Amino acid sequence: MNIILFGPPGAGKGTQATRLVEQFGFEHLSSGDVLRAERAAGTKLGQDVTAYMDAGQLVPDELVIEVILGRVLNSEAEAGVLLDGFPRTLPQAAQLDEALEKADSRVDLVLSIQVPDELIVERITGRRMSPSTGKIYHVKYLPPQREGVCDETGEPLVQRPDDTEEVVKQRLNAYHEQTEPLEDYYRSRGVLVEVEGTQDIEQIADRIGQIVRDRRPK
Ligand code: AMP
Repeated sequence: MNIILFGPPGAGKGTQATRLVEQFGFEHLSSGDVLRAERAAGTKLGQDVTAYMDAGQLVPDELVIEVILGRVLNSEAEAGVLLDGFPRTLPQAAQLDEALEKADSRVDLVLSIQVPDELIVERITGRRMSPSTGKIYHVKYLPPQREGVCDETGEPLVQRPDDTEEVVKQRLNAYHEQTEPLEDYYRSRGVLVEVEGTQDIEQIADRIGQIVRDRRPK
């Protein structure tokens, strides 16, 4: 079963992805994490995407499609893949469909997490991340046991450079202009389910878990 976690930056996609992986064994593929790893490794791709990411703009389709589709098609997870942050444009969605179809597969479910813009800035500017695992915390809503330190690895948590208020506003613009139209694309294919994303993390996780169980092939 292949799932897309869809929603604006700060909707809680990464947090919910962690829960879904624990519960169902999906392979989590976050395009943002993949691009950040390329940057950290200093690859050509990593260098090419840096300026876009730091400005809160989408990176060009041709830079992201190949690397993500490669990972989707090579996944060996029996449960399926859980895409987070991809696709973000109509060409990305179309190419994903085409690649999956060739592999006799499909997008089975798109979980669209709904959060109004007003809440996004507070959520994102308080967000902290474990540098090696990408695990997400929030200073107020999901604090680590020891302030500023990852529960799992003991590393100091970091703030993503694009999680500042100024860049968040640009990322929200990119979301509304380029990514939101994908909701209609998937709705018309009958795979979109909207999820209220303003409740607390556990309530959202319960709801999402229930939707996945209902839709999972028996
Ligand atoms: P994220 O971690 O999903 O918020 O992604 C961080 C940044 O990576 C975005 O602001 C974009 O610059 C870039 N990015 C991630 N995924 C994509 C994508 N599917 N298409 C274009 N740019 C992306």
